[in-house]
Amino acid sequence: MATKLIEQLEKIVSPENVLPEAQARRDYAGDQYWLSIAAQGNGQPLSRPDVAVKPTSVEEVAEIVKLANRIGVPITPWGGGSGVQGAANADRGGIVMDMRLMNRLRVVDEKSLTCVAEAGVVCRDLEADLNTRGLSFTHYPASTEWATIGGSIGARGSGVLSTKYGKIEDHVLSIEFVTPTGEIVHTPAVPRHASGPELTQLLVGSEGTLGVITAATLKLHLLPKKRVFGAFGFANLSDGIEVGRRIMVSGLKPPVIRLYDPDAARHSLSRAVEMELSGPTMVLMFDGDYPELVDLEARLGFDICRELNGRELPASIGEIWWERRYVFYYPPYAPELPSIWGTVDVVADYEHIEAVYYATTQAMRDAAPPEYNMSLTTHLSHWYEWGSMVYARMKIPTGPENFEEAKALHDRIFYAGVEAAMQAGAVLNDHHGVGMRLAPYMEAQFGAGMNTLRRIKQSLDPNNILCPGKLDL
Ligand SMILES: Cc1cc2nc3c(=O)[nH]c(=O)nc-3n(C[C@H](O)[C@H](O)[C@H](O)COP(=O)(O)OP(=O)(O)OC[C@H]3O[C@@H](n4cnc5c(N)ncnc54)[C@H](O)[C@@H]3O)c2cc1C
Repeated sequence: MATKLIEQLEKIVSPENVLPEAQARRDYAGDQYWLSIAAQGNGQPLSRPDVAVKPTSVEEVAEIVKLANRIGVPITPWGGGSGVQGAANADRGGIVMDMRLMNRLRVVDEKSLTCVAEAGVVCRDLEADLNTRGLSFTHYPASTEWATIGGSIGARGSGVLSTKYGKIEDHVLSIEFVTPTGEIVHTPAVPRHASGPELTQLLVGSEGTLGVITAATLKLHLLPKKRVFGAFGFANLSDGIEVGRRIMVSGLKPPVIRLYDPDAARHSLSRAVEMELSGPTMVLMFDGDYPELVDLEARLGFDICRELNGRELPASIGEIWWERRYVFYYPPYAPELPSIWGTVDVVADYEHIEAVYYATTQAMRDAAPPEYNMSLTTHLSHWYEWGSMVYARMKIPTGPENFEEAKALHDRIFYAGVEAAMQAGAVLNDHHGVGMRLAPYMEAQFGAGMNTLRRIKQSLDPNNILCPGKLDL
């Protein structure tokens, strides 16, 4: 079967772009979900492709999808494999479709401030190219060195500047994609129209289940001429949240509002900026093309901090955080086995956000046996006019040696946080996507809406070829 599949794929793409089982299982053994990494360490990878293929054009993608339909083999699109929920794992075998050879920047329209990038373009590379033209994509995930455009759209990602520039869904004007039966579709050129439903957005967050995204038209911005940073300490988290809310409803547009809880201020932020900090701490950034306007916005934003008795801290805290914002996500600082790590990231409106914070963090702490010395650092960093995100990051320095015990401990803490957050009024989740990790919660999240999603999936993908089982579809 595998040999025949390879022969057929080699008729569609160049033979060097077809990787046989052994190589596919080595190169695509798992994404960055802790369980993917731990399962590999235990010799039982979650991702077990029979073959990997690297298409170079939308036509090749369409032919591969048609082939998979003819012979009934699942396909899992793979971007950078940087997802933290297990979405890119080929847990049912079949074909991994690595999109990274589709990495051309097809068009840059400097008048409309848009570009057409292929799905396999890595965020960092796109940003570097645009910066040479005085432009910016403004989608800055911490995984920028790995994450692709297709994977960011697939997982509905977000970057550190999202509070002003939006999540990935706000950056995408239109897409080119291949349906699960092999048709090539171009969605309408712009997203603001009244030509029926917005088809582009159906694919955003679909995690490879409804189509393979091959290119996207993206909104760009001018590189800002000025950035102003500020930092404030608060007596309690409640005041910090109220500051965030007031700024967001005021019409001010800071790209960055990061509110660290006392543990996150003491550990994560202090380490990043090499200053001792304690108590809820907020880092802010304002930016723009008109320096006077940026200064004015910053002054008004900082005034709101003072209204809630914010204690002004050195602005260099913000500047250093910005310079070092990616450092701690990569070696030698990135966590490794036998640690256990994971983030419950959820989103809620202002009515519920504080309750969500306390319920989530308390549930995670309660679920962690004290002998494991779990650290829990939490921040709120993607803000909206109506609410915010809670990002509760847990880490156990040394988990149990036994894989099953480690998994049970991880699940106990992680899902305690997830369930408490949902009960307190949160939506799962803000930007990491669903993957294998949250699929069991889709029914609870969507209720009868799952029937609608399943019908969409069934009608688009009658042979259940694209990422079967993902999103619990
Ligand atoms: C250190 C670190 C930091 C991170 N920081 C952030 C952050 O700041 N913000 C954030 O949002 N996320 C972050 N993440 C999570 C992750 O990087 C994002 O989910 C990212 O969007 C995934 O992109 P990817 O290209 O690696 O996709 P993958 O992990 O390869 O895939 C993600 C999903 O998209 C699907 N997919 C991939 N390509 C396509 C395509 N062309 N068509 C259809 N479906 C496709 C896959 O099948 C899968 O379901 C971080 C992860 C790590 C490890």
